[in-house]
Amino acid sequence: MEPRVFDKVLIANRGEIALRIHRACKEMGISTVAVHSTADSDAMHVRLADESVCIGEPPASESYLNMAALLTAATITDADAIHPGYGLLSENADFSEMVTEHGFAFIGPSADHIRMMGDKITAKDTMKRLHVPVVPGSDGAVEDAATARRLAAEMGYPVLVKASGGGGGRGMKVAQDDSEIVAAFSTARSEALACFGNDEVYIEKYLGRPRHIEIQILADSHGGVIHLGDRDCSLQRRHQKVLEEAPSPALNADAREEIGARVAGAIRELGYLGAGTLEFLYEDGEFYFIEMNTRVQVEHPVTEMITGVDIVREQIRVAAGAELTYSQDEISFTGHAIECRINAESPVTFAPSPGRIGDYHPPGGLGVRVDSGMYSGYVIPPYYDSLISKLIVHGKTRNEALMRLRRALQEYVIEGVETTIPLHQALCENPDFVNGEYDIHWLEKFVGLD
Ligand code: ADP
Repeated sequence: MEPRVFDKVLIANRGEIALRIHRACKEMGISTVAVHSTADSDAMHVRLADESVCIGEPPASESYLNMAALLTAATITDADAIHPGYGLLSENADFSEMVTEHGFAFIGPSADHIRMMGDKITAKDTMKRLHVPVVPGSDGAVEDAATARRLAAEMGYPVLVKASGGGGGRGMKVAQDDSEIVAAFSTARSEALACFGNDEVYIEKYLGRPRHIEIQILADSHGGVIHLGDRDCSLQRRHQKVLEEAPSPALNADAREEIGARVAGAIRELGYLGAGTLEFLYEDGEFYFIEMNTRVQVEHPVTEMITGVDIVREQIRVAAGAELTYSQDEISFTGHAIECRINAESPVTFAPSPGRIGDYHPPGGLGVRVDSGMYSGYVIPPYYDSLISKLIVHGKTRNEALMRLRRALQEYVIEGVETTIPLHQALCENPDFVNGEYDIHWLEKFVGLD
């Protein structure tokens, strides 16, 4: 057996990702501490953890985002390390700094790298310097509407005004022509200030029909850097991913290897540590970097299914100073994987549908994985994200994965709340999706027509 890298890890998250981290820890012989709000006392991540600490009231700002409460929980349980999961505090550089200052290991990159990539202008500049192709646009921040207008005219319409501190698709405004640029600039700016407390914006060429393709990387502190290929996350609604697959139906092996190697080279030069994802738009055979996420992503399982690499396990190992388990030549891609994000929402209006789960029966069988904390009788609280389950399938070919997905969706029983399962079922029957012919705008048209 491998030596244990930590004795005890505190999981600063909830829901399926808290469970996912717990599972990796247990398989490594590491004890787990769950934290929870008063609304989550009965949640599965709390039930399965070795220990749990209640850290506050239901609103995330009073519990899962309360850094002092999290550090206290880690102290009283004598944890060695904190895993932030995704969302919540995972990309908060101050939190990662506080964690290490208090003597715990932060399972993620350095605060400097989180800060660098959290500022999109700096992130783009950095990637450009490291020879990663970026979306054409302004050189840094744009100070006023007149400059925005001049730059937009130079690069050609349509353009996109984006917030440097942006996330979740907010603070982004398209200008189709000169008559729209001044309004787009000032709306993006005020939205950015309201949402992120930072009104810095920049301008990019707006791509008309790109795919969203991202590259997963892993890096250790011994110079080991590998890429785990690509994921296609083009199926989005309001810039939120709905279904992801790996590998992208749009890439061939040479293109995949080329971009993967380029990204791994840049990450090596950066001296980055841990898991990370570089997000690109891909159009007419060209990649354009848009941002880097410095954490594990919701859609990481599709990569795990085609590579066999446990991404969370590698995150934990490298945070403890161990080497990555794999070198690049030990990574190969087998078959095809698809993930459906199942939300407790109306599949038509997308209104949240929290409440008590009645009958619950997840699908199973060969090539089927369900990452979820659901169980019969569980009450989905109204305070948090509506993602309740991820259904992931793997097949030898994309077609086999699709057949398996249809079968698994049909088996899945979640009673008592509305879910987006019917949306995924409709998607699986659509010829464009079946043929892999879609871009980032496709799904919004599809749900609009339905
Ligand atoms: P956020 O951090 O808010 O999610 P991103 O920069 O990752 O912002 O962009 C989110 C989504 O917005 C992308 O996946 C893509 O669908 C769209 N988008 C971003 N930049 C562009 C662009 N230059 N042209 C067209 N669409 C874009």
